[in-house]
Amino acid sequence: MKIINPATEDVVADVELADAAEVDRAVERARRAYATWRDVAPGDRARLLRRLAALVGEHAEELALLEVTNSGHPIGNARWESGSVRDVFDFYAGAPERNHGKQIPVPGGIDVTFQEPLGVVGVIVPWNFPLLIASWGVAPALAAGNTVIVKPAEWTPLTALRLAELALAAGLPEGVLQVLPGAGEVAGARLVEHPDVAKIVFTGSTEVGKEIAAKAAAQVKRITLELGGKSANIVFNDADLDKAARTAPYAVFDNSGQDCCARSRVLVQADVYDEFLERLTEAARGVKVGDPLSTETEMGPLVSAEHRERVRSFMDGTPYFQGDCPQGKGFWFPPTILTSQLSDRAFTEEIFGPVMSVVPFKDEAEAVQIANDTVYGLSGSIWTRDVGRALRVARAVESGALSVNSHSSVRYWTPFGGFKQSGLGRELGPDALSAFTETKNVFISWE
Ligand code: NAD
Repeated sequence: MKIINPATEDVVADVELADAAEVDRAVERARRAYATWRDVAPGDRARLLRRLAALVGEHAEELALLEVTNSGHPIGNARWESGSVRDVFDFYAGAPERNHGKQIPVPGGIDVTFQEPLGVVGVIVPWNFPLLIASWGVAPALAAGNTVIVKPAEWTPLTALRLAELALAAGLPEGVLQVLPGAGEVAGARLVEHPDVAKIVFTGSTEVGKEIAAKAAAQVKRITLELGGKSANIVFNDADLDKAARTAPYAVFDNSGQDCCARSRVLVQADVYDEFLERLTEAARGVKVGDPLSTETEMGPLVSAEHRERVRSFMDGTPYFQGDCPQGKGFWFPPTILTSQLSDRAFTEEIFGPVMSVVPFKDEAEAVQIANDTVYGLSGSIWTRDVGRALRVARAVESGALSVNSHSSVRYWTPFGGFKQSGLGRELGPDALSAFTETKNVFISWE
């Protein structure tokens, strides 16, 4: 597979893709490594993960530059991502000694529960945040005593491959963490079908997620799914309109809109719609698109030519606003604002590009109705100064990660995941270990 820099179209690496037989060999290595990794003392497992976190920290700039080269992320974003990967490993390094069971009162003996690891876990990763999303599955899975095989996305394997090298350097035994680049339909599919893979963590499109869920069902295989989104940014007439308008572009154009949490449906109360649209356009005009290596850059290119064609396919007629972007080499697409009808494809489907659709709403009930009129339910924002309304709407919107007067969705120490067809299960936060363990109940008679 030729790995292409999305900003320059240069070939930056040539990566061999694993076939099904190579996946089988990796599963066998992981299965053997599991037999010893699960028995590594909690404190030692924690120390190894802490060492990996420290190594990721020492190599943060290298990893960031690799992500810029492979994925076209602006360097500021890429630095935040590699720092966050370090923090994710640090956070879950605290988990092995805290992986408690319970003691439950029963007559005639004692009853205790154990949180047992599952075995070999397959982590299938998309191309939009190649290393960050990999770490969300890898860190808690390893902390709980599982061994892991990561299948990165075809276009963006480089940072995950480097992570596997750092894991070995940190002292993790061979076979505990493997990274296997390969085609989704070949290597990914084999991981899903392999009887010795106990669990699949899949982040990607809802379409592939459904296929994986169906295949996993045949073996009652455990799954966590993080899928698509079409989230709403709801702006009420009593909001700080200036702040809401200044920040709205970044809630969509960040990572060029290639973000499952993008608030790409902007719902604005009708009596402030014109004023908001004017301020929003001004803010969008200020988004700096260009060389990902410049620290000034806020938005880089799309990941590939193929993906840019897909984003283009949503352009029907003249956009309300379209900003500038570099011409020539690179998979550039300008920041775009559409004033949409509720039935427009651009308003209902996930575009995964720097395109936002703005529509007016009448009142709170209509805002909630429009926000929920989608198969997705991943994130969303609510802008209002009325705390009662903020709480009512936050409870009414069918989404897993909401923010009020802010656009933040992801912190490694709070739970993240989707309602409806945006996913199944939760990642991150204090409870992520439960997604990588099985509860075992043991009764011991004192007779
Ligand atoms: P994708 O579904 O095409 O691919 C994701 C991964 O699955 C890749 O590694 C791919 O090789 C693999 N894959 C493809 N077909 C497979 C199969 N049949 N069996 C097993 N594996 C297979 O998604 P993408 O285009 O890489 O990513 C974009 C999508 O990911 C968007 O829909 C986005 O919303 C979603 N996403 C969701 C989250 C979340 O946390 N909810 C986060 C990031 C991205």
